[in-house]
Amino acid sequence: MKIVLLGPPGAGKGTLAKGLKDHFNLMHISTGDMLREEMKNGTDLGKEAKKHIESGGLVPDEIVTKMVENKLSNDKNVKNGFMLDGFPRTRTQAEDLDKILKKINLPLDCVLSLEASLKIVLERLTGRRVCRACGALYHIKNMPSKKEGVCDKCGGELYQRADDNEKTIKNRMEVYTESTEPIIDYYKKQGLIKTLDANKEAEEVRDFTIKLFNG
Ligand code: ADP
Ligand code: AMP
Repeated sequence: MKIVLLGPPGAGKGTLAKGLKDHFNLMHISTGDMLREEMKNGTDLGKEAKKHIESGGLVPDEIVTKMVENKLSNDKNVKNGFMLDGFPRTRTQAEDLDKILKKINLPLDCVLSLEASLKIVLERLTGRRVCRACGALYHIKNMPSKKEGVCDKCGGELYQRADDNEKTIKNRMEVYTESTEPIIDYYKKQGLIKTLDANKEAEEVRDFTIKLFNG
């Protein structure tokens, strides 16, 4: 299965991807995670990305698309199926993704559009915590770790992303509405969109998606 997960920041794309990954044995390709890894390693790409990420803007299309192209073209596990999370985010990225997938002969099966209200995504983003070691996702109210600040899975330290503050979140939501939401239409025209009610509890969203794919 080759899937794109679309939806506003905080809709639960990463959480759903982690929930589906093992069930369907799919690769989870998150451009946000890849860029944060570059930032952590202090690479030139990471330094460039940091400026955009911390203001809530988008990293330039060429940079992100090249990164995704490298992954899709070189990782042999890609052919077993993947979930793209956070990519594409612009019409140009969507068109370039089509070209890349055509070249490697792995067309998309489906684009899952996660719909969640503004109130819900704001509450999710401000309460999000991430494990520094393994990337597991938590929420201070909805999905708290057993011990505050400590990852249940690996004991790593939980942190709040620098871009999960109110001012940056506002910018990210504007960027989503302006640049990313319109690509729902792009995929509708290709007959690929399936809509999910992402306001629901995480387990319910996951079970619904599994049923959707199992027919
Ligand atoms: P995205 O990848 O779309 O930005 P995340 O998966 O990181 O979103 O989720 C954002 C926050 O909301 C995280 O703190 C996560 O634990 C929480 N969350 C995700 N999905 C749900 C859900 N269905 N119900 C409640 N909280 C959720
Ligand atoms: P995410 O982890 O998906 O919330 O992404 C965090 C940030 O990384 C975004 O706010 C952007 O600055 C940047 N980013 C991630 N994916 C992309 C993309 N496809 N295009 C441009 N910027 C991206």
